[in-house]
Amino acid sequence: MGEFDLIERFFKPPERSAVRDGLVKLGIGDDCALLQPQPHTQLAISSDMLVEGRHFFADVDPAALGHKALAVNLSDLAACGAKPLAFTLALALPKVNEAWLAAFSKGLFALADAQRCELIGGDTTRGPLNICITVFGEVPIVDGQSQALLRSGAKVGDDIYISGNLGEARLALEVLRGNVSMNDDVLARIRNRLERPTPRVALGLALRGIATSAIDVSDGLLGDLSHILRLSNIGATLDMEAFYTMQLVANSVMNTMVKGQFNHKNGQNHDSDLQNTLIGYILAGGDDYELVFTAPPVARAQVQAAASEAQTPVTRIGQIESAMGLRLMDASGALVQNQWRSFDHFS
Ligand code: ADP
Ligand code: MG
Repeated sequence: MGEFDLIERFFKPPERSAVRDGLVKLGIGDDCALLQPQPHTQLAISSDMLVEGRHFFADVDPAALGHKALAVNLSDLAACGAKPLAFTLALALPKVNEAWLAAFSKGLFALADAQRCELIGGDTTRGPLNICITVFGEVPIVDGQSQALLRSGAKVGDDIYISGNLGEARLALEVLRGNVSMNDDVLARIRNRLERPTPRVALGLALRGIATSAIDVSDGLLGDLSHILRLSNIGATLDMEAFYTMQLVANSVMNTMVKGQFNHKNGQNHDSDLQNTLIGYILAGGDDYELVFTAPPVARAQVQAAASEAQTPVTRIGQIESAMGLRLMDASGALVQNQWRSFDHFS
């Protein structure tokens, strides 16, 4: 199968039409796609690349991979408060494996259709498996002001929130790496958090005009929140109690993980080590694709209303302060030493 047949068959089947809502004037097939944005809107644009061995295992379910490749990009739109419109797909494939491509494209389009985000172009080449998607989203301009949620808008006194819960993707990764063992039924659930993350698009949209800043958690909460702090030129204190009671620790994992089944490779599985490891996954595990955002205390009711509208729970986890840096505090008000680090590809 040649390059053009491959595109026709898996990425531009005749029953699909990218032309909708007057937005996509020209989809796959020419030198460029043509998008016609609405007046008084900005285009929000973001790219994310997934590399075999670095972001996924070679034997990962291709349908899950198709989902995740788009999901991590949609997560960036969500963090910006942008509505998904369209995306391009640049694909390097070692060989043409039709069953693999069919599953990949099925997973990809299931999410694309659910989010009404159209594939409008891309590139296909032979090479080590590599998937790069660029998404285009839309943000309205109201009274001359962009409604985009930025990393730079947090203000002293703002509350800090996190959507959903954290750490499960990392826990699943450690199980797949063979560092942790757990019951199959628990793994089946948290494995979805790693391989099929849900981008918080509805929440991002609902938070427009309410949140003062936002970012999606891809590298770990502490690292990603630090980007907000740096760009907003402020500091923060996080309430450890919020993490101790987070669902991961409270319900799903602690209760189902029989003591001793949690065998971390360092050989220790005392309660406090277990707790510490799990808190580390929550604070710095990565691959969560939740939103961390800030909003003033007067907006607490609005934040909760946005959360229920988006059917996405949010938890208050701390406060923005003028003192620079990121502090962790326990329920008694004592500072907790930060021993957790977020992921950095080059450190
Ligand atoms: P060019 O040579 O001008 O780069 P190509 O021949 O690579 O164009 O691609 C032909 C058409 O197919 C273009 O519209 C391009 O956007 C689209 N395309 C190529 N690869 C993909 C892909 N993986 N997914 C979606 N569209 C693709
Ligand atoms: Mg090309």
